[in-house]
Amino acid sequence: FRHGQPGEVTIDTPNGAVVFGEQHPLVVVAGPCSVENEQMIIETALRVKQAGAKFLRGGAYKPRTSPYAFQGHGESALELLAAARAASGLGIITEVMDTADIEKIAQVADVLQLGARNMQNFALLKKIGAQNKPVLLKRGMAATIEEWLMAAEYILAGGNPNVILCERGIRTFDSRYTRNTLDLSVIPVLRKLTHLPIMIDPSHGTGKSDYVPAMAMAAVAAGTDSLMIEVHPNPAKALSDGPQSLTPERFDRLMRSELAVIAQA
Ligand code: PEP
Ligand code: MN
Repeated sequence: FRHGQPGEVTIDTPNGAVVFGEQHPLVVVAGPCSVENEQMIIETALRVKQAGAKFLRGGAYKPRTSPYAFQGHGESALELLAAARAASGLGIITEVMDTADIEKIAQVADVLQLGARNMQNFALLKKIGAQNKPVLLKRGMAATIEEWLMAAEYILAGGNPNVILCERGIRTFDSRYTRNTLDLSVIPVLRKLTHLPIMIDPSHGTGKSDYVPAMAMAAVAAGTDSLMIEVHPNPAKALSDGPQSLTPERFDRLMRSELAVIAQA
C-alpha cells in the first residue's frame, strides 16, 4: 500500500506496479461483466493481457435490477479471479456490494470497485475508507459531480487516499439508443476540481458494443487516465451485459490500432 504523489494512484500487480495519473500512460481495465466460469475468465484474462490491458475486471457479486437475474457466483467467483490473476499476472478489480464481504474480496482484489448503485451507500463508503485497498468509485447514475466528489471524500476522510473516479454514464431523458449518456465533460471538469485519477467506462456508458470504440477514443482524446471496457469471449452468450461487451478480437483491434494512434497523438 503506497500513498504516492497527489494525482497518482500506484497499484502493485503481479506484473509490476501500475500508476494511474495524468503524467502516466493510459491504463486499460478489461474483462467480462460477470465471472461466469473458470475457462471464460482465464481465457479473457490472457487475451486482454495480450492486447495490453493491465487489470482484469469481473463481477463476483452483481447488483442486478431484477432479483431473478444472474446475481454472480459470489465466493466461488473470487477463487476464479484469483486463478485468473495467477495465470495472467493482471491486477484484479471487482465490486463490493456489502460491508460483510470486504475482507474476503480484498484477499483477491487489487482494487475494490464501488458501483454506481452504491455511490452513496455511506456505510460502505466508511468501511472502504477504513481499509487500505485502492478503490474505484463509480459515479452514481443520477449523481452530480459534487455528490460524486463528496462520496470520494468519505473514503479519503477515512484514511484511504487511493481513490480512482470512474464515469460510467448518467441517466438523461433519452435512453432509447444508448443505455446512458456518457458524460465526457467530467474529464476537464474533474481536472480542475480534484487530484484524483480519472477512468471512463464506455461500456456501461453506451450499453452497445458498436459504440464503445468511438467513445473510448474520445475519452482518451479528452485526457482520461484510464478506461474500463467489458470484454467477453462470446458476448451473445454472456450472463450479463453481453450487448455492450466487445469480443477479444474487437478489443485487440481497439487497443492496437485505434487507441494506439490517439494515445500517441
Ligand atoms: C459493472 O461495472 O459491472 C457495473 C455494475 O457497473 P455500474 O456500477 O457502473 O453500473
Ligand atoms: Mn456490466
